[in-house]
Amino acid sequence: MARKYASLLEFQRRFPDEERCALFLFERRWPEGFRCPECGGTRSYLLKSRAYTYACVACGRQTSVTAGTIMHRTKLPLTVWFWAAHLMATHSNGMSAQQLMGQLGLGSYKTAWLLAQKLRRSMVDPNRDPLEGVVEVDQTEMSFRTDDNPDTSIKTGKIIVIGAVEVIDRATGEAQRPKALGQKYLDTLSGRIRLAAIPSNHAPHIHAFIRANIAPGATLVTDGHASYPGIAGYRHDPRVVGNMAAHIPLKWIHRVFALLKRWSLGTYHGLRRRHIDAYLNEFVFRYNRRFYRHVSFETVLGLAAHRSPVSYWDITGQQNPRKETTPTRRNPRRRKTASGMRQDGVETADANKI
Ligand SMILES: [Zn+2]
Repeated sequence: MARKYASLLEFQRRFPDEERCALFLFERRWPEGFRCPECGGTRSYLLKSRAYTYACVACGRQTSVTAGTIMHRTKLPLTVWFWAAHLMATHSNGMSAQQLMGQLGLGSYKTAWLLAQKLRRSMVDPNRDPLEGVVEVDQTEMSFRTDDNPDTSIKTGKIIVIGAVEVIDRATGEAQRPKALGQKYLDTLSGRIRLAAIPSNHAPHIHAFIRANIAPGATLVTDGHASYPGIAGYRHDPRVVGNMAAHIPLKWIHRVFALLKRWSLGTYHGLRRRHIDAYLNEFVFRYNRRFYRHVSFETVLGLAAHRSPVSYWDITGQQNPRKETTPTRRNPRRRKTASGMRQDGVETADANKI
């Protein structure tokens, strides 16, 4: 995997068809050859009736090469998933649904949008260690839209985003050492970031964000907003902005917010409130990797983390209208997933729209 696949064309040569993609997934799942998850049997045969599914000769247990991945029970070709993940991974700003649709010649915007949304879900920063040292914290407001039409520019409201960024000492490249309160931090760099949407600027929401993302004992450099004081276990270093422009004392977090806003308009033509967490996760994921931009397409496909499948209904937060009418099996088959056992029929095939 050391080789980088610079262009989509090269990538497509490596994964030209369904068989090559399925073979890759097979080798990824069973690097030592087939092994039945039920009985440990090593002999299998490929089913003719179900795509990319192997049955164990000893016990008959069927295992799909896509089980436990975001491609499971997909209606889209594996090549589309692979190529879309490659585009998502190699474009430093990511790809909007509109761009994926054009690049891959997908027939509908909805399909492209769901594909992009599923791939985006894998882009969660695996390095969730809390931020440390000197950390700038601030909030900003972002416009969001309620429709999915990329051709309109309807702004319908504001959402509050809180962010935190580690301050790095430029000379050492290490976390900035805390100084006396009010002293300037000169010659610094931006370290890792965290972002979250919060319902309001009230102290409980701000404190919850800080506790979830910043290690106790850290120095919080803020603009002196009334919601920051009173959080125990942290050293608060408020910079009362007064007449000074706010980006002077809180330079890094303001730069992050500016990038975030430009990115949301440039790549996504505005954010949608319901998907704000997925967008913020993707932005944090990319920002925290900005010095080594190449993300493996396997990460985007969720192969590295073995994430469980996400359905259309999970992404859109809607109730699956067909779920209740889905006939239940008399003897539900039990399948192994990343998170344990689940019964077939709990998440039905038709819940997956793509
Ligand atoms: Zn078996």
